[in-house]
Amino acid sequence: MEKKNIDWSNLGFGYIKTDKRFVSNFKDGAWDDGVMTEDDKVVISECAGVLQYAQTIFEGLKAYTTEDGRIVCFRPDLNASRMADSAKRLEMPVFPEDRFVDAVIQTVKANEGFVPPYGSGATLYVRPYMFGSNPVIGVKPADEYQFRIFTTPVGPYFKGGAKPITIKISDFDRAAPHGTGHIKAGLNYAMSLHAIVTAHQEGYDENMYLDAGTRTKVEETGGANFLFITKDGKVVTPKSSSILPSITRRSLMYVAKEYLGLETEEREVYLDELSDFAECGLCGTAAVISPVGKIVDHGKEICFASGMEQMGETTKKLYDTLTGIQMGRLDAPEGWIREIK
Ligand SMILES: *Cc1c(COP(=O)(O)O)cnc(C)c1O
Repeated sequence: MEKKNIDWSNLGFGYIKTDKRFVSNFKDGAWDDGVMTEDDKVVISECAGVLQYAQTIFEGLKAYTTEDGRIVCFRPDLNASRMADSAKRLEMPVFPEDRFVDAVIQTVKANEGFVPPYGSGATLYVRPYMFGSNPVIGVKPADEYQFRIFTTPVGPYFKGGAKPITIKISDFDRAAPHGTGHIKAGLNYAMSLHAIVTAHQEGYDENMYLDAGTRTKVEETGGANFLFITKDGKVVTPKSSSILPSITRRSLMYVAKEYLGLETEEREVYLDELSDFAECGLCGTAAVISPVGKIVDHGKEICFASGMEQMGETTKKLYDTLTGIQMGRLDAPEGWIREIK
């Protein structure tokens, strides 16, 4: 398919309508076959479950052009299983995992002209999501659902290099113990909007949320997990049942151990040990890793030795290795790369 006439290296992270999207409906207890359509509009009842009681979940992953010109997706099977977990927690029907992966691949293929070329730094972002579509007024799960996947080309996350960011310890909580912090649901984002707007007004790039139960332990930001590097080079990530299990974070922990020979540890991380770490990063699909230079705890600054100019040394190695795997410059572990044929 011919590439679209887009200025790839100047794309931002915004929505651009592409040619095709996948749509499947759940009705009378079953999913239909689904179709690829040009229709980007969703028409649902004014009383749809999603509009009244926020019954909606989503996923996010990317398609890349590799160095040798193949189009690939990164670990879509993990998005499929995570979406199944999200669906169960919100009493929604699971879209079968094998069909999910197949639909992702079909949707990327149908929009091949929008997959940015290798070397542009841009990628095709893939957004699967599902919502309750029939009228619900008494509080209960919907009976009918729509599952959709659209794609949109997004620019290089770091224009002109990855500058470390400054984050604040938030006074708001993201997720309750035994709540919904571990699933990818719009509801977790709706309630984070006030906290992020407030943080931005105060001059911070992001919020660090603490565990809501004791407010002594590190959880994550609104949309990315934390990685810390100790002074002796160990990679540490917070363990908590209210953190969203980031696929990027899980992949980086594997890469740290198996590709870089680093020690790794998933454990509770306390607020009062942050100053003991040498480096800090945020991980998620959008940026892979964003380096954190400074954390501000109510006026008290915690500055990492890696500074405010560049990524820490170990963070950079992790970033280069994982992006090398995604872009086909390094051999991937079995099953990590799904080629679009
Ligand atoms: C999506 C998301 C992440 C990142 O997960 P990836 O699978 O790495 O993209 C982290 N935290 C939250 C709250 C998220 O919603």
